[in-house]
Amino acid sequence: MSDYPEALQRLIEELGRLPGIGQRGAERLATYLLKVEREEALGLADAIRTVKDSLQPCRACFNFSEAALCPVCSDEERDRTRIMVVESPKDLVAFERTGRYGGLYHVLMGHVSPHEGSALRHLTAERLIERVRAGGVVEVILATNPDAEGDGTALALARRLEGLGASVTRLARGLPSGFSIEFAGTEVLADALEGRRSAPQEES
Ligand SMILES: [Zn+2]
Repeated sequence: MSDYPEALQRLIEELGRLPGIGQRGAERLATYLLKVEREEALGLADAIRTVKDSLQPCRACFNFSEAALCPVCSDEERDRTRIMVVESPKDLVAFERTGRYGGLYHVLMGHVSPHEGSALRHLTAERLIERVRAGGVVEVILATNPDAEGDGTALALARRLEGLGASVTRLARGLPSGFSIEFAGTEVLADALEGRRSAPQEES
């Protein structure tokens, strides 16, 4: 495995750390980058540097943002009485693509996972509680993934949001098990949003 020149070996290792790449994929990408024009390869390096230097979490909802507030939060036309809670910025983008949601978001940046020892306190949940406590929020829509972690996260959040004055809803059921919001079609998401109902607050 150390037959490559050191610089190439380093690139393979870095690429191999990316999700879904693996050793073989990293080798293929690295040799590809060696073959292409310098401009093209450095364009990739530059794009990575630019997103890391220019994007920050939105001060209000934790969506990726180039300014202190993301475009959703700074849009005066959005319905400020509704907050949809999603696990990642990718899920926010998926719901925005439906064109059927006009409220605000809150990005958790993860989910509760007992196996990985991650709890609500590791997420941005406290900031969500503060937003709801601040008042003016009529509905919190729990749009975490309908899998074990997403359901567990929704349940934990529903408990924390109890008694804060906002109604708490969950996306409609009937989505395939293990279904992931980021890969769902816009119609499926629009239907799930449309059919939302009160979030359960007890294990059933
Ligand atoms: Zn925002």
